[in-house]
Amino acid sequence: MGLSVELKDVSVQYGSFQALKGVSLFVEGGEGLVLLGPSGSGKSTLLRTIAGLITPTRGRVYIGGRDVTELPPDKRGVSMLFQDLALFPHLDVFENVAFGLRIRKVSDDEVRRKVRWALELVRLDPDLFLKRRVYELSGGQQQRVALARALVVEPEVLLLDEPFSHVDLDIKNRLLEELKILHNKLGFTLVYVTHDRFEAVEIGDRIALMKEGEIVQVGKPIELYKKPKNRFVAEFFGEAN
Ligand code: ADP
Ligand code: MG
Repeated sequence: MGLSVELKDVSVQYGSFQALKGVSLFVEGGEGLVLLGPSGSGKSTLLRTIAGLITPTRGRVYIGGRDVTELPPDKRGVSMLFQDLALFPHLDVFENVAFGLRIRKVSDDEVRRKVRWALELVRLDPDLFLKRRVYELSGGQQQRVALARALVVEPEVLLLDEPFSHVDLDIKNRLLEELKILHNKLGFTLVYVTHDRFEAVEIGDRIALMKEGEIVQVGKPIELYKKPKNRFVAEFFGEAN
């Protein structure tokens, strides 16, 4: 079962610019929470703060009830997939997926077993794909490799930042469907960043809508639709969008 994620009064500053303004949020273990909001609202900053890539100037971060604010990313039990995938295009699929395990001192046998397991999860046949170089693969296949790399460490918390933004709509919809199945099956806690409200409704048990470094409203998709807290929420979910 996934671990809970909690932010208490978290602020992040880039120089003189305040990107997060005292954000508090609780994500239950195993829940799928979407951080939704327009470009520049602070979604990636929030996700990176959970991952430990950014240290907040104020506030605390808890994972599984443990204060991890001072812990480095690899000590938090989280796995993150970035918008730009950050794959190694000239290495083969095996090395790309194994990357997450290498820094954790896993034995070679175990690495081989886990990489095959992760590829099967994302529906890439290991016998066909292990030796392929990543640059030769289609966009959708690369997306799957990146997801396998994030899953191979069996994370308690999976953090995805606009993970399917580079693929066509039909492939994106299929990947979203498969991610939902994986989320149910593996039980990790999912924090998913997107600026697309349709995607948010599709994947989120709850949505946290952000604006200018703050969470404006958090709730089930239907609540944000039916009971928008203010005009910004209503307009974000409205017809014009
Ligand atoms: P989002 O992911 O919602 O688009 P970000 O978290 O990336 O938003 O950025 C929030 C704000 O912080 C934006 O105004 C952005 O320009 C600014 N910002 C992000 N990263 C940096 C950085 N490294 N240095 C300075 N400003 C940054
Ligand atoms: Mg972003």
